[in-house]
Amino acid sequence: MNTRVVRAACPHDCPDTCAMLVTVTDGVATEIRGDPDHPNTAGVLCTKVSRYLQRTYHPDRILHPMKRIGPKGSGQFAQISWDEALDIIATRLRAIAERDPRAILPYSYAGTMGAVQGESMAMRFFNRIGASRLDRTICSSAGGTGIKYSIGAKMGTDTEQFAHAKLILIWGGNPIASNLHFWMRAQEARRNGAILVAIDPYRSLTAEKCQHHIALLPGTDAALALGIMHVLVRDALLDQDYIANYTLGFEQLRERVADWTPARTAATCGIATEQVEWLARLYGETALRGEPVAIRVNYGLQRVRGGGMAVRNVACLPALVGAWRHAAGGVLLSSGDSFPKRPDRLERPDLYRRDVAYPPRTINMSTIGDDLLKPASAEFGPAIEAVIVYNANPVAVAPESAKVARGFARDDLFTVVLEHFRTDTVDYADIVLPATTQLEHVDVHATYGHQYIVANNPAIAPLGESRPNSEIFRMLARRMGFDEPAFADSDEALAEQAFEAGHAYTRNYHWQHVKEQGWYKLDIPAAPFAQGGFPTLSGKCEFYSERMRQDGLDPLPAYIPPYESAASAPELARMYPLAMISPPQRNFLNTTFVNVQSLRDTEGEPHLELHLDDAAERGIKDGDRVRAWNARGEMIARARVTDRPRKGLVVALSIWWKKLASDGKNANELTHQRLTDMGRAPAFYDVLVQVEKLPDI
Ligand code: SF4
Repeated sequence: MNTRVVRAACPHDCPDTCAMLVTVTDGVATEIRGDPDHPNTAGVLCTKVSRYLQRTYHPDRILHPMKRIGPKGSGQFAQISWDEALDIIATRLRAIAERDPRAILPYSYAGTMGAVQGESMAMRFFNRIGASRLDRTICSSAGGTGIKYSIGAKMGTDTEQFAHAKLILIWGGNPIASNLHFWMRAQEARRNGAILVAIDPYRSLTAEKCQHHIALLPGTDAALALGIMHVLVRDALLDQDYIANYTLGFEQLRERVADWTPARTAATCGIATEQVEWLARLYGETALRGEPVAIRVNYGLQRVRGGGMAVRNVACLPALVGAWRHAAGGVLLSSGDSFPKRPDRLERPDLYRRDVAYPPRTINMSTIGDDLLKPASAEFGPAIEAVIVYNANPVAVAPESAKVARGFARDDLFTVVLEHFRTDTVDYADIVLPATTQLEHVDVHATYGHQYIVANNPAIAPLGESRPNSEIFRMLARRMGFDEPAFADSDEALAEQAFEAGHAYTRNYHWQHVKEQGWYKLDIPAAPFAQGGFPTLSGKCEFYSERMRQDGLDPLPAYIPPYESAASAPELARMYPLAMISPPQRNFLNTTFVNVQSLRDTEGEPHLELHLDDAAERGIKDGDRVRAWNARGEMIARARVTDRPRKGLVVALSIWWKKLASDGKNANELTHQRLTDMGRAPAFYDVLVQVEKLPDI
């Protein structure tokens, strides 16, 4: 028997980007585990990815190219050869590109987070065609934009340092489900005497395990941050020296927060005045004692109309109390900008086709429901005639799902999907191409939760006729007649180009070395903003942001109420009185893993969690079938009646495959396509619904 252990990286849309060890015997992967030597992974994989072999060798894997033989949406396909598939695609794309290449749209996101199998060869291909560009906003761009206005980049406290904090605010996230290795650090901190406070409308698994939980109304986090600032200023719980030297606009901020009394904050957030006072004083007094206070802000709070501003406000707090002076202080939303990435080398925007008369067009992935249904117009440009989907499942994930499905059902739309499984989106494809999983290809990963570049070596040969995304776009480029040398780069060559070597953070980084060792920790100082040096225009933490003013935004921290809430839309709330959020289900990762039976069995079926009082008002008991609806659509689920959601909130843990639900629908039937205040992102958690009991069947 020939047994070896291969160093790999978890590719999924999760901040932890675990380093993995894959045992391979005679060409078959037999074991997968977390690398015990990788400091962030510490030998632990989450439940989902510890089943990765079940996913890789799943009997439903798509292993051959297929073409559609039934109506769109029916999922009826026949196997074809690679030659036939490439011919059909190249013929269709060539014809469309001759008329107007912008009618071709790539649609991709974080199905893999790898630099090679993400936007490398794929973007070279679409640039060369001159296709529409995709604004990749579906998840994090509101918060990402907000934090940049305050501190200049998506950077912050090193996850490993959270273990040494004395107070941790876990704001808008449920790390037990979606940031497990941060949670391990938070637990360590707690064992060392730290106080953990969860801020979340829902008593999630994480909130339950923190010493304190503040269950505010969804979409009001920005107001809570303003209220905390008010108390810090009022009670002089400030690091005056840090403010004077390393921040900009304190006097304007002082005026702005003067009105945000604890009473007003509490009324806006639907919590007690004492909670605002207590939280602000705890934060300020702990910091003033010289102890590290850290905030793990996550993406939940930015999925509302004012989500960008909410993150911006939270990101101002550490500078007020001088928390950045400590390695274990500050705030972390994402570490993504810490990595010296080279998209210019990977994606080659210089290949963008220039021999056509049209200006480039950008389509927002979050409004794909509307955009697929738009006819050609002077304002919009050509109707979308072809969509190539990879690393994404828009029919289940994009908001206002009924419209998305209607768009993909268009008979005149040519859809190609690169996939592992027959997802909801695959059902609408004209051509399906079999993609490799992480065990079958090369990749290299940045992350958004820690500070390591992680390498992925192929452990096994591609199953069936599957091919890496990079190779599929290489083959398509050849078939289209693109002969630029950029299309000849191997995956190894792409991996080599992914990061700048010799940058201040990658002084000793070499791909070949990392490939063998498994990872490389960026050379970032332990307390990067201890003496300012923020990557903003001023080099300071900007309470006042001139860039925001130039972008047409309020330059100071502010509160932007939700689109849909009792306070901001009272008439709508009379018809649909319950707020709905759809955060990640612990055993799913977006829509990945929903088809792994052992993980789905844990969930059973789609659930809607209601507060005891809301259920009682509607005669709903635990386990009843219920219908949730609003003007956009409806979904059926099994009721869970608990005191976990605050009263007035329903929680649809997500994201279910629509076709695996009894009614063929999921929570995105109820979401809308209106965008956040900044970052052009969807407001998934800014939704009102009504719920009723259904008869059992
Ligand atoms: S999904 Fe996240 S926690 Fe799970 S193995 Fe992957 S990176 Fe680690």
